[in-house]
Amino acid sequence: MDTLELINGFRKFFGEGGQPCHLYFAPGRVNLIGEHTDYNGGYVLPVSIHLGTYLAVRISGRDEFALRSLQFKDGGALTRPGIRNKTISGWMTYPAGILNEFFDCGVDIPGIEMLFGGNIPLGSGLSSSASIEMVTAFALNELLGLKWPATKLIMLAQHAENHYVGMNCGIMDQFAVAMGSPERAIFLNCSTLEYESVPADMGDAVLIVTDSRKSRSLTQSAYNARRSECENALMHLRKGKPADNLSGYTTVEFERLKHLIPNETLLRRARHVITENDRVFRCVEALRNGSQNRFGELMYESHVSLRDDYEVSCDELDILVEESMDCPGVFGSRMTGAGFGGCTVTLVMRDQAPAFMTKLRNHYFRRAGLEPGFYPVDSSRRLEKLAVVPSCR
Ligand code: ADP
Ligand code: MG
Repeated sequence: MDTLELINGFRKFFGEGGQPCHLYFAPGRVNLIGEHTDYNGGYVLPVSIHLGTYLAVRISGRDEFALRSLQFKDGGALTRPGIRNKTISGWMTYPAGILNEFFDCGVDIPGIEMLFGGNIPLGSGLSSSASIEMVTAFALNELLGLKWPATKLIMLAQHAENHYVGMNCGIMDQFAVAMGSPERAIFLNCSTLEYESVPADMGDAVLIVTDSRKSRSLTQSAYNARRSECENALMHLRKGKPADNLSGYTTVEFERLKHLIPNETLLRRARHVITENDRVFRCVEALRNGSQNRFGELMYESHVSLRDDYEVSCDELDILVEESMDCPGVFGSRMTGAGFGGCTVTLVMRDQAPAFMTKLRNHYFRRAGLEPGFYPVDSSRRLEKLAVVPSCR
């Protein structure tokens, strides 16, 4: 996927001539550590990746919003009332949700033609959804000269995913896609949105995202269950010390107060969140010190906590992590994303990466009966405008 493919596609769908065509790019993201901490007001540590979503957009002068994607056959022209009344289904709900947010803010958008194209594997946890949302919001902001700050676009995109698409996600994905920059990770406090850009130079190692190809099930119901379990655990801990959320407790405070939680399951849920928050801090320290070994250890610890305390892993993810331990050159591995399927992320020596993928593929196939997908990722890209093509020629 590159800009040439996008321009050719644009010509095919919408024809040449007319106004200039503007090209934009938004990356995907992978979270290094800090899983299921976002909605508990905690810390996360995502990096934006080189895979992402491209958008070509042109003002058409017609009173409609024509949406097409290189990834999907369906697409077409939406009207403002159609978008307002949510008469849209499928992939178009993502860009339509963003257009709807701009309408809500009183922006009068002229008729446009938009073509999306991307190379993020869809639905695998690399946040193609936040990527398509942010590229749309960024493009509209730039094209219409609104000059809204990035934080406004981030909030607006999250609001669209929550209320228009109907996916109850936290703020991390949109934030990482919008604020990520090459060789940096975003150390984000999800309750205050304060963040710091920290070094994420992997040295002679590389991050490999492995797709378990296990279709995710139960994600939404388990997610809701975990949220209420965390609230419940918090209610008990508050008797010992007031706090807004589970991230308001240090690991030392938790050890002192955990007897207040009468239920073993709730105790484990809280322990995951509180220790995971602590691991984010320690991971930032490891990155600052360039310690791949320490970073790797924390990844394994995070996985064990997600598997045993938070119980959001599954056999397939556990097999991937377990098998990676036996591969030479691997520093660490963990499940990433909501869980119950989806991907793992692994830190491995660059020169050992091909052997790692071959070995893991064979062992995983033998044990899980599934062919994994491998995506070596680097944090080389950011959200940006790429070019203006006059008359799309
Ligand atoms: P994830 O964010 O983990 O990739 P989601 O299910 O949240 O998975 O979002 C994936 C959906 O986002 C796709 O099924 C599609 O509807 C939409 N999407 C993402 N990228 C594109 C694209 N380039 N073109 C059209 N739709 C896209
Ligand atoms: Mg998503």
